[in-house]
Amino acid sequence: MYNRKAYELGSVRSVIRELFEYGKKRAAEMGADKVFDFSLGNPSVAPPAKVAEAIKEFVDTMEPVALHGYTSAQGDYGVRKAIADYINERFSTSVGADNIYMTCGAAAALTITLNALVSAPGQEVVAAAPYFPEYKVFVEAAGAKFVAAPMREQDFSVDTDKLAELINADTVAMILNSPNNPSGAVYSDECLKKVSAVVKKKSEEYSHPIYIIADEPYRELVYGDAKVGYIMNYYDDSVVCYSYSKSLSLPGERIGYVAVNPKACDADEVYLAVMGAGRALGYVCAPSLMQYVVKKCLREQPDLEAYKINRDLLYNGLKEIGYDCVRPDGAFYLFVRVPGGDALKFSECAKKYGILVVPGDGFGAPGYVRLAYCVARKTIENSLPYFKELYAETKTE
Ligand code: PLP
Repeated sequence: MYNRKAYELGSVRSVIRELFEYGKKRAAEMGADKVFDFSLGNPSVAPPAKVAEAIKEFVDTMEPVALHGYTSAQGDYGVRKAIADYINERFSTSVGADNIYMTCGAAAALTITLNALVSAPGQEVVAAAPYFPEYKVFVEAAGAKFVAAPMREQDFSVDTDKLAELINADTVAMILNSPNNPSGAVYSDECLKKVSAVVKKKSEEYSHPIYIIADEPYRELVYGDAKVGYIMNYYDDSVVCYSYSKSLSLPGERIGYVAVNPKACDADEVYLAVMGAGRALGYVCAPSLMQYVVKKCLREQPDLEAYKINRDLLYNGLKEIGYDCVRPDGAFYLFVRVPGGDALKFSECAKKYGILVVPGDGFGAPGYVRLAYCVARKTIENSLPYFKELYAETKTE
């Protein structure tokens, strides 16, 4: 006897993981220089030097039983206080240590938040397309129905008219992800205002708060003048799911947090529900050493210039060939409209050239492919002639 749903999730790999495994196999057969793997969003720049310095300092100076012991279930108080103070300094908010719950990255933060908010079968959670495919898994595991809100194709922002039509009495939350995976779009101030107004109106109409969950693993990854608005400054009933996976290049260390907006109408209760969901899911005491490390590294950033150079190289190279794409302002993804319109076919055809790209279908955006440009620069340089051949082949189909 076993859980059939869990079995199904375990036996069907995500498309992204499938491609990544295929790339490794092909590299072993043909040589790594023949594979241009744009499938996985694994940071390609090292964590800031201060991360290693902080780890070393803690290991060398802190009493080991304390260093490696449990913290409070919700995270060390000093760490949570430092994070809250830093959020307030940056965004003029009034977050306290008791609004912060430390987690194993954004995935755990989202799972905990969804489990804290979903209270009955039949409830719904809306996510703005294009969206991280795991949202569907997380939402359904929390017992709710996943609903995708369509995007505006010209800039990958939220189509707020369509969003309004999709929110109903069963909607408990909406997930927003900016900078966005897979499009790299940064939602404008105007977009955040419009989304907040729609959700507020619907909350009033249905007489219960509809939460906005801002999923923010890419907050620090922005290029040029783009500004990432902070949801707490637009909408009171909000929760931020933050992660250091990309902002400090620490995806394997599993560290992030949930921040409940203190202005939310049920802020104290929601925070207790977050604690309860963390407890029920076994997500208590995020890795202690990493909690202390992120406290020391709050102001650190990875080498954004390396990502920006990659973005420009890939975007300009593909545009020159004739590909249709919007220049992304953030994260490390480029979302490309495929010639011929069939992303699954395009992705399959690309494999012939050693190019691995993820079809947009799983992101709620058929007709596009996602390219993760967190790769070595030479991977991009060497791939461009093959992208040209691929374009010629798929264009004439
Ligand atoms: N949300 C988005 C949009 C992501 O792209 C990812 C990871 O790629 C996650 C959440 C999960 O992040 P973490 O590694 O911090 O769990």
